[in-house]
Amino acid sequence: MTVDRIAMSGSIKKPHFVLVPLFAQGHMIPMIDLARLLALRGVLVTVVTTPANTARFKAIVDRANVAGLLIRFAEFRFPSTEVGLPEGCENADLISSLDQLTNFFDALSMLREPLLRYLREVKPDPSCLVSDSCMPWTVHVARELGVPRFVFHGPSCFFLLASRNASRVKPADPFETIIVPDFPHELEVVKAQALRFFEFPGWKKLFDEVAEAEETADGLVINTFKELEAVYLESYSKALDKKIWAVGPVCLANKDASDKLLRGNKTSVDDKYILSWLDARNPNSVIYVSFGTIARNSFSHLLEVGLGLEAANQAFIWVIKEAELTPPVQTWLEEFEERTRAMGLIVRGWAPQVLILSHPSVGGFMTHSGWNSTLEAVAAGLPMVTWPHLSDQFLNEKFVVEVLRTGVAVKPRMPAVYITQECEGLITREHVEAAVRKVMKGGEEGEERRKRAKELGEKAKRAMEEGGSSNESLTLIIQHVLELANNTTDYLLPLEK
Ligand code: UDP
Repeated sequence: MTVDRIAMSGSIKKPHFVLVPLFAQGHMIPMIDLARLLALRGVLVTVVTTPANTARFKAIVDRANVAGLLIRFAEFRFPSTEVGLPEGCENADLISSLDQLTNFFDALSMLREPLLRYLREVKPDPSCLVSDSCMPWTVHVARELGVPRFVFHGPSCFFLLASRNASRVKPADPFETIIVPDFPHELEVVKAQALRFFEFPGWKKLFDEVAEAEETADGLVINTFKELEAVYLESYSKALDKKIWAVGPVCLANKDASDKLLRGNKTSVDDKYILSWLDARNPNSVIYVSFGTIARNSFSHLLEVGLGLEAANQAFIWVIKEAELTPPVQTWLEEFEERTRAMGLIVRGWAPQVLILSHPSVGGFMTHSGWNSTLEAVAAGLPMVTWPHLSDQFLNEKFVVEVLRTGVAVKPRMPAVYITQECEGLITREHVEAAVRKVMKGGEEGEERRKRAKELGEKAKRAMEEGGSSNESLTLIIQHVLELANNTTDYLLPLEK
């Protein structure tokens, strides 16, 4: 049942953090980054996975182990077939309908007993659990074991606070614009674009469990940094009366090219080819286009993106995910690729995003505004073209466009949509062309936007360096866990120099 990749001595007095990610790449990737950051401080980290998910992260964890970092997997069989999911359907990016999503969450909660049994036996004893906010069943595991439990939030604190406060306003029309109450500054949102996770009809049980898991947690860990979100962190902490540790951007845990390359799924392209392609371009001349792991674009929308880039005469790297590569898309892409070969590079499947974003030739990111992608752009000091598709992405866009002023919305006042196929014609090539031109060739206004983005990138890097706010937060949470366990802090010397 379990795979211990490192032989451990039960007698070592060091904290043992057990990380329980949601099995979705936008949640697992930052958890693995967090595991690396903790392990760099000498913490032993166990990451809960299933076979298909281990396979995606084995290479990066093996590499960390070779470097002396104590990260290991606790691997459990995923009960796909018990809930009616196809065998191997162990990650949210393999789910194709809302029904399957319900089954997926049912299967996740079935890991409760096996995990509890494992953690009762494992040595050294777990010091705490850090579990994804979407894994509320871990409340019982931590309670049974008598260890502290921290909630890891994937999204921004701006989203967490705005959606929490917006949930008190219930207009008859969900598409009405409301003012978010008790927010640090005036914030207008379309109600339907400010929903909390699982705040949909039919999901009340999970919604309540998630809220309760947060209320009863020993604190929250968020992938953000103080210099970016100070006011929201303060308000959210007050609202919940809980400690929050802002430890990001965790993507900056990957310093060298090999770690950036191995982060997430196996890449579908030769990294050396991509890097030499980028090396041959001018600084800030290429836009990276990707819409994350869950949002799916219809053929007609993909076409508009491509034609918009072409109309803007814009050099690009464009990632089109496996699930979008239907036969008509493939046929069209071949033709498009032929025509735009001198200008762009199309990646079919998975791209090494953080590696690409950190290349000096990349000057902008057209993104679906998932929080990881947003924060990765912030960390790389890049302006964004934003096209939110679902969930927290609408508020992330608001934050980037209206508060940080480092992004341009592909379409201002985007309607709230959850199934992209149902909104054909939402985005046109003209929208894409105009937003891309503004971000990449926007004259004085564009330069100012780029300057702001660059400054934020510097702040992000400083936050993660020794003495920086996120670096300190990580120290504080480890110390907190040790204090709760009445342990010593003697060995807490960062391994990293
Ligand atoms: N990602 C990547 N290569 C890809 C697609 C995605 O490395 O081709 C990574 C990206 O860097 C980010 C994560 O997958 O860390 C996606 O998370 P995000 O929150 O942006 O979006 P989600 O997929 O959850 O909607």
